[in-house]
Amino acid sequence: MDPAAGHSLLLADHTTIHLGGPAKNLVWAQDAAELVDVVSRADADGTPVLVLGGGSNLVVADAGFDGLVVQVAHRGVAFEQAGQQMVMHAAAGAIWDDVVTSSLARGLAGLECLSGIPGLAGATPIQNVGAYGTEISQLVTSVPVFDRVERRHVTLSGVDCQFGYRTSALKGASRYLVLGVDIALTPSETSQPVRYQQLADALGVELGGRAAALDVRAAVLGLRAAKGMLIDPGDPDSVSVGSFFTNPILPDAEVPAGAPQWPTTDGLVKTSAAWLIEQAGFVRGFGDGRVGLSNKHTLALVNRGGATTAELVAFAVHIRDGVRSRFGVTLDVEPALVGVAL
Ligand SMILES: Cc1cc2nc3c(=O)[nH]c(=O)nc-3n(C[C@H](O)[C@H](O)[C@H](O)COP(=O)(O)OP(=O)(O)OC[C@H]3O[C@@H](n4cnc5c(N)ncnc54)[C@H](O)[C@@H]3O)c2cc1C
Repeated sequence: MDPAAGHSLLLADHTTIHLGGPAKNLVWAQDAAELVDVVSRADADGTPVLVLGGGSNLVVADAGFDGLVVQVAHRGVAFEQAGQQMVMHAAAGAIWDDVVTSSLARGLAGLECLSGIPGLAGATPIQNVGAYGTEISQLVTSVPVFDRVERRHVTLSGVDCQFGYRTSALKGASRYLVLGVDIALTPSETSQPVRYQQLADALGVELGGRAAALDVRAAVLGLRAAKGMLIDPGDPDSVSVGSFFTNPILPDAEVPAGAPQWPTTDGLVKTSAAWLIEQAGFVRGFGDGRVGLSNKHTLALVNRGGATTAELVAFAVHIRDGVRSRFGVTLDVEPALVGVAL
């Protein structure tokens, strides 16, 4: 499939926030070999490359991208017994939520809390996707990649990936082309321990308790829908990139009084970006232009229709600066920015 076959070059048509100007060229790589081949040829002749998954964590400039956009399109999952566990090999172009449902349908627990996250499997290790107490790093055994610097296939271990909160060695670095992700799952119809209070409450279990994995998925989808965090053409609050800012991780002394606090393993404290935004005066639904805060969640910046990336960036700067002047805390941006900066 390519633009000649009727596919839009406009990146707004390929991003969940519906923003971004035209790509100079856009191709769909139907398998891993084609992905490597197309990107290698572009690298060899010095053409800039943007790898596109589901476009759900991407903010692209109104000017678009003056190079080659490669959409990762190879799908499929395979399973391999590994001792007591089952390793699932997901192709980079597999739709993430299909990966989750196929694991649950096979009676494998582990991914239930990551239900409903938009995008493709190949992007999940890049920012170490997480939700409701699970991060993909807890389950990843390896990540097959193509190293664009050394021009060879490599299998990265979890340690190589240097996973952190919404980050990894792969984020912001164009060196590695992710070809798939290998995930260790537990044969069980019962979920992993529920580690998120709101989810435990929704399920009626104690924190650390378990429920049927399919019930956990249903509860997660319900919570996500209530927050506009499920892509839904009928929900204008889902025209976003999800959370626009990450939760700040600060030395104890710098956490604003009254803010939620979650100690990290390295002696720092994670606090809530949503709380900081709200307390700085930006409530849900804030903004009177074509860009605003979601009516359901202060962390999501929403294209209300017809917006430009310039408007989104100006709005994001306004929010970030408001939080900084109120609390002295600078919020970091979560999505990948292409051709723009805050
Ligand atoms: C409504 C909504 C809710 C969300 N909820 C969550 C959430 O709960 N938790 C969470 O962690 N995230 C969440 N996100 C963010 C996003 O869905 C995830 O980060 C997702 O993994 C991005 O996948 P993608 O395929 O859309 O990546 P894209 O947006 O297409 O790409 C993101 C970055 O990864 C790069 N990339 C993508 N694929 C590859 C590849 N194969 N090889 C190399 N580089 C690649 C791109 O170049 C880009 O830099 C949410 C987003 C939305 C819109």
